[in-house]
Amino acid sequence: MTSPISPARVDALLRAASVTIERADAELLLGHALQHDRAWLFAHATDPIEAAQAEAFAQLVQRRVDGEPVAYLVGTRGFWTLDLNVTRDTLIPRPETELLVELALARIPESAPARVADLGTGSGAIALSIASERPLASVIATDEYKAALAVAVGNARRNGIDNVWFRRGDWYEALGNERFDVIVSNPPYIESRDAHLRQGDLRHEPMTALASGEDGLDAIRAIARDAPRHLARGGWLLLEHGWNQGAAVRELLTQAGFVDVCTERDLEDRDRATLGRLG
Ligand code: GLN
Repeated sequence: MTSPISPARVDALLRAASVTIERADAELLLGHALQHDRAWLFAHATDPIEAAQAEAFAQLVQRRVDGEPVAYLVGTRGFWTLDLNVTRDTLIPRPETELLVELALARIPESAPARVADLGTGSGAIALSIASERPLASVIATDEYKAALAVAVGNARRNGIDNVWFRRGDWYEALGNERFDVIVSNPPYIESRDAHLRQGDLRHEPMTALASGEDGLDAIRAIARDAPRHLARGGWLLLEHGWNQGAAVRELLTQAGFVDVCTERDLEDRDRATLGRLG
């Protein structure tokens, strides 16, 4: 028996979707609709697809056209070597944040224990990446929001990581009098009046994870100011920030008593992270 309409094929659906959305996004969405990974799509390019799955894919493509971020549509995002769940309660981990992970790892010993804190952990991206590379380190990850912490806890389990402990609180609130060898954070740092917050994918992410006061530096000011009380002598503070905030963040770290303060650039050659050591 032949159907009057020829069934859709993997390759044809991807080609059609690529007219309105990015090819890479189309692959992630089709993989999600079919519950297969990208490699499967290539190996099965000429496979027919059931009408219900083609319809589910069409709906996802439409939501993407309407501006919803792919990571929220599929519920996951790759970061470092990990596969992380993300929800609308968490920022979507960005590739440029891997710089912060690299800089932190360079300051955490491989064969000795170290105490690390990740402030505002969101999906847990930074804390879990560090913990996965440094099994001897104890990582404390904090977040003000219960819903974000629930996602991060799930991500630890999902990736089999057991050297991260999650605590709820604003910046240092949940850390008591403990001192750390490394404190790392990718806090919100966008100026609250920046028009980008109301455009494109950013509209869908939690505002509290993105914006931080008039000059974008409220969170970084608070973190830098109190860092010396939570770091061991010689401990490092590493912060992500915007491309135009390097000088301001270096100044804040220097004022707080840090030495060896420097700014590092991301893969796009833009200022992205500033770090300093407690003298
Ligand atoms: N630490 C998380 C990340 O880097 C969340 C950061 C944030 O919400 N500002 O993805």
